[in-house]
Amino acid sequence: MRRRTLLQGMGAIAAATLSCTPTTRSQTGGVVVDDVSRLNECRVRRVVSCSCVDDVVAAVLQARREGVPVIASGRRCSQGGQSSIDDGVVLDLTPLNKIGVIDEIARTVTVQGGASWDDVQRALHPRGLALRTMQSSNVFTVAGSLAACIHGDDVNDSVIFSTVRSLTLVDALGQVRVLAPGDPLLPFVVGGYGLFGVVVEATLSVTTNSLMQHRARILRAVDVPAVFAQEIAGTNALFSARVCPAPSSFFDETIVETWTAANDTADASALELGREENVQRDRLILDASRRSPAGKETRWAIQRQNVSSSSSLSLTRNNVMRPPVAPAAFLVHDADSDSDIVQEYFVPVAGYSMFLAAAAKISLADKTNILEVKIRFVKANDDAVLSFALVDSFSFMISSNVQRTTAGLALAQRTTQRLVDAVIAAGGRHHLTYQTWARADQVARAWPRLPEFLAAKKAADPGLLFQSRFFRNCINL
Ligand SMILES: Cc1cc2nc3c(=O)[nH]c(=O)nc-3n(C[C@H](O)[C@H](O)[C@H](O)COP(=O)(O)OP(=O)(O)OC[C@H]3O[C@@H](n4cnc5c(N)ncnc54)[C@H](O)[C@@H]3O)c2cc1C
Repeated sequence: MRRRTLLQGMGAIAAATLSCTPTTRSQTGGVVVDDVSRLNECRVRRVVSCSCVDDVVAAVLQARREGVPVIASGRRCSQGGQSSIDDGVVLDLTPLNKIGVIDEIARTVTVQGGASWDDVQRALHPRGLALRTMQSSNVFTVAGSLAACIHGDDVNDSVIFSTVRSLTLVDALGQVRVLAPGDPLLPFVVGGYGLFGVVVEATLSVTTNSLMQHRARILRAVDVPAVFAQEIAGTNALFSARVCPAPSSFFDETIVETWTAANDTADASALELGREENVQRDRLILDASRRSPAGKETRWAIQRQNVSSSSSLSLTRNNVMRPPVAPAAFLVHDADSDSDIVQEYFVPVAGYSMFLAAAAKISLADKTNILEVKIRFVKANDDAVLSFALVDSFSFMISSNVQRTTAGLALAQRTTQRLVDAVIAAGGRHHLTYQTWARADQVARAWPRLPEFLAAKKAADPGLLFQSRFFRNCINL
C-alpha cells in the first residue's frame, strides 16, 4: 500500500469540484440546484429522491399529470445544465444504487442506475472481476455515465456502449421497458443525456481483475501518436498522457502512463481495494498550481519525479481504476472567486498535431489557467447516435480554473469557442457533457446527427416530458 502513495501526486486529475453543490431552498419558491462547477444555478420546482423503480414511475407520472418537465440526475458532474430544468422536476437517482446479480460465468453485473462506479467496484472485487470501461474517476453514477456515453483509459474498451448488455428504462408514459443491444432506441438512450427516459437498471459486461504493470515515461507531446502507434495501439493497455501546463515546457513535455498485463502474481496488499490518501497534501499542491506559474512548475516537477519512483509498480485493474491511483477527493474546490471546469475535445489521429498546436496557441493567447491536459485514445465507433469519435481519435481533456466574474466567464466562453473551432478544423468535435459554451452554429457543425436525435426524441416523447436546460439551450434550437 505504501508504494501506491508514490503515485498520489501524479494521479489522473481532471480538475473540477467533485462534491455536489447542495440543493438549497429558493426564497421565491422551489429549490435551487447546481452542478459541480457551481456555474449553473437553476431554480427547479422540486427534487424527488428515488430509491426504487416505483418512486421513479410515480414521479414521472406525477410530472406528466402536472404538465411539468422532468430530468434525472446522478452525481451532477456534467457541467452545463444536463441534469437540471428551470421550473421542472429533478429526479435524484443516487439512492437507487443497489448491486444485483453478478454472473461470473457470463461475466456481467446488473446494477441500479444510481450506483456509483465505486459501489460496483466494491461488489466486483471479491469475485475477481473488474469494470471494462470507466471515466478517470469512480465517483460517477452508472446511469449518468451511460447517458453521457462516457469513455476512459482502456485502449480497446474505450467507450462504454460496447459493454452494455441491457438497460431498463422508465419512458415518458411511465412504462418500464427493457432494451437489449439491437433495440433501435438503445443508440439514443446511451449518450442521450436522460432525454429518452430514466435508466433504472443496467447489465454491463465486465472483465477479469487482472494484475497490471505500470510504466511511466516522459515524451515530447508531438511524439505521442507515433509511440502510441508503435507500442500501444491494438493492445488492452490502459493509456493516458498528461501535457505539461507549466511555462517551462508548456504543451511540450508529456508524462505518458500505461498499465499492461503483468507477468508476476499479486501480493496480498495489491489485492486490497485502494482508497484516497494524502488528500490535504495533494490539495495544497493543486491549489499552488491554481494560484501561480511557480506553483505549476512545482507540481509538474513532483509529477516528473514520480515517473521514476513509480516504475515497476503492479496493481490489480480495480486499483488502477480507483483512488489512490485515480483520486478524486483532493479535487474538491469551493472558492467563492473561482471554479475549476473541464472541457474535452475529440481529435481524429491525423489531426492530433494540428489541434495540439492550436490548443497551445489559444491557451497562451487567452492566458488560460490550465491545471491539466489529459490525452487518451478513443477507438472509432458510431454505436450511439451522438458518438464522439467516428474514427480513431485522441481526446484532449482540458481542466482549467476560471474566475467567477462576468469578464472571467466571458473569456472562458470565448476560449471554448476558439477550441471548438480548432477541433472542428481538425475533423473532430467537443464532448457535450460540459459547459454549453459552444455557439449554435458550432454545435450544428460538430454534431451533424443532432437533427436525427431531436426527431427521434420528439417521436419517443412527443410531449417533451424529459427536458433539461442543456436540451433547451443546445439541442432543441
Ligand atoms: C472531474 C471530471 C472527470 C471526468 N472524466 C470523464 C472521463 O474520463 N470520460 C468521460 O467521458 N467523461 C468524463 N467526465 C464527464 C462525466 O463522465 C459525465 O458528466 C457523467 O455524465 C457524470 O455522471 P453523473 O453521475 O455525475 O451524471 P449527472 O451529471 O448527474 O447527469 C449527467 C446526464 O445523465 C443523465 N442521467 C443521470 N442519471 C440518469 C438516469 N438514471 N437515467 C437517465 N439519464 C440520467 C442526466 O439527465 C444528465 O443528462 C468527467 C467529469 C468530471 C467533472
